[in-house]
Amino acid sequence: MKALQYVEIGQPPRVVEVPKPVAGPGQIVLKVTAAGVCHSDEFVMSIPAEAFPSFGWSVPMTLGHEGAGIVHEIGAGVTEFSVGDAVLVYGPWGCGSCTYCVEGNEMLCPFAVELGIQPPGLGHPGAMAEYLLVDDARHLVPLGDLDPIQNVSLTDAGLTPYHAIKNSLPKMGAGSSVVTIGAGGLGHMAIQILRALTGATVITLDVSEAKRAHALEVGAHHVFDSNEDAVAQVRALSGGIGANVVLDFVGIQATAELAGKLVAPAGDVQIIGVGGGALPVGFGALAYDATVRSPYWGSRRDLLDVIELARRGQIRVDFEAFSLDDGPKAYERLHAGTLRGRAVIVP
Ligand code: NAD
Ligand code: ZN
Repeated sequence: MKALQYVEIGQPPRVVEVPKPVAGPGQIVLKVTAAGVCHSDEFVMSIPAEAFPSFGWSVPMTLGHEGAGIVHEIGAGVTEFSVGDAVLVYGPWGCGSCTYCVEGNEMLCPFAVELGIQPPGLGHPGAMAEYLLVDDARHLVPLGDLDPIQNVSLTDAGLTPYHAIKNSLPKMGAGSSVVTIGAGGLGHMAIQILRALTGATVITLDVSEAKRAHALEVGAHHVFDSNEDAVAQVRALSGGIGANVVLDFVGIQATAELAGKLVAPAGDVQIIGVGGGALPVGFGALAYDATVRSPYWGSRRDLLDVIELARRGQIRVDFEAFSLDDGPKAYERLHAGTLRGRAVIVP
């Protein structure tokens, strides 16, 4: 079968021929219907060769941690799904039995790495292929009659901001202000989730004029360029206090520091982008009583909630579709910053 693989460190991904997977006991093979392109893949492909193994990774690596498919083959003992069922893949696979996993927070599983359990597309062969092997039925969520291409990115671009927003919901009542930094795949979903769930004024910062225009289209109340001027602009829109919540979907040092200047007393900063930026915490470093956290992906329950928001028409992924053969082009467009919303690969 065809797969889009990161073959050689430092080189762009390529379409290659690999063996089709077979379902062992308890496993499921999906015929992939869609796979989303995430900026985290670019992060993976930017790691130098000497650091790559420390993440538990090796090449070749089939990409794609946002996946949708049709159940194609079920292994012995699988009773939860039947051949032909349409599903989405919950990506952050954990051990399944620790306290975090039992609560559905598999993304926090402290044992997955030592057990060699990795998410599809981030170690385990991913969804950018004709078929995907899934280790356990609990990683699948029924998609019903929702379109897989339209909805595959709910599994990360929807799930990750939803989880972050839920962390800060008590601080986002009527009259509050939220700043989102970065209006790409995750950011354009965050704006819609904020509008669906909160009474906050949503202020979006992005360096790209096209992304700022997109942010307004999907529900941001105000947009600004992403620089120090935003501090005064956000103060002016928030009665002089700053943002009750700042969600940084870029996470480089400049945006992390900007987030620290934007946050109001007792506010939250969440650094979601994996740009390597960090924000020092200590008395006087930030507004009094501000909280800083760096969430990762989301829970299985969160994914069900996100799918329900989409089913009700309260959120909608904007995407551009690419064939598997054109997968490398999708990554070029991601790198150039010219995508509108998400790129979705359709094998
Ligand atoms: P994307 O490329 O689709 O969007 C990034 C956006 O940020 C673009 O609109 C770009 O114009 C904007 N941007 C770039 N530099 C900026 C700056 N200095 N200030 C403001 N805006 C700027 O990326 P994505 O797929 O949405 O991913 C966003 C980030 O989140 C990435 O770092 C990704 O790796 C990370 N991520 C984290 C998690 C997690 O669980 N924590 C999950 C998924 C993705
Ligand atoms: Zn991702």
